[in-house]
Amino acid sequence: MARQFFVGGNFKMNGTKDSVTKIIDNLNSAELPTSVEVVIAPPAPYLALAVAENKQPTIAVSSQNVFDKASGAYTGEISPAQVLDLGAKWTLTGHSERRTIIKESDEFIADKTKFALESGLSVILCIGETLEERKAGITLDVCARQLDAVSKIVSDWSNIVVAYEPVWAIGTGLAATPQDAQDTHKGIRDHLVKTIGAEQAAAVRILYGGSVNGKNAPEFKDKADVDGFLVGGASLKPEFVDIIKSRL
Ligand code: PEP
Repeated sequence: MARQFFVGGNFKMNGTKDSVTKIIDNLNSAELPTSVEVVIAPPAPYLALAVAENKQPTIAVSSQNVFDKASGAYTGEISPAQVLDLGAKWTLTGHSERRTIIKESDEFIADKTKFALESGLSVILCIGETLEERKAGITLDVCARQLDAVSKIVSDWSNIVVAYEPVWAIGTGLAATPQDAQDTHKGIRDHLVKTIGAEQAAAVRILYGGSVNGKNAPEFKDKADVDGFLVGGASLKPEFVDIIKSRL
């Protein structure tokens, strides 16, 4: 099954109106392959700016987070409807920084994923193990637990992209080797076969995230279950274009 190559850019809590505009200007002036789906996730205050500035038909805009309610007395939260109202089409859920720093549970992330999908957003669902969990040999158990929280309450995975992001590789310069990523992605897909069925599991794109840059991205080229990347730091730099083009 051919899965469309996908590159996400997570700007995290970085940037200003000026710098976000510059990043998007750079993407606008690039010749991007029409075969690659690209999603950029600026900080929430710049979602409308990113939507307005983006001129590339293959690029969509994503929120980095949403709440699991439509509206109401939830100070500081952002609803999927508001994200859609700004013209963004995607959201991330379960980024490790939200799991570890904000202490979001698997269940809360699953609820947010379900509600975002029901509201009409597509979701990049992030999963991955910490260094301690990796050392303990439980990488796939952790990924399975995080995925199961979602598959328990979401049966249609057609608008979910999974991002495998080992916590020890995020922002550290320590990318997983392409073979490591492939082995884990294969394990994730095999697990999804059991929980959401072979057909959906074969169609779900599984991205690798963790210190991907313009230089190492092509090294993942021949890895059958690496369907793209979720990129943090390098998505703020011109080399993001090289990552988008890394499968050509
Ligand atoms: C991320 O935050 O999703 C990420 C992968 O970060 P980095 O590329 O900077 O490691």
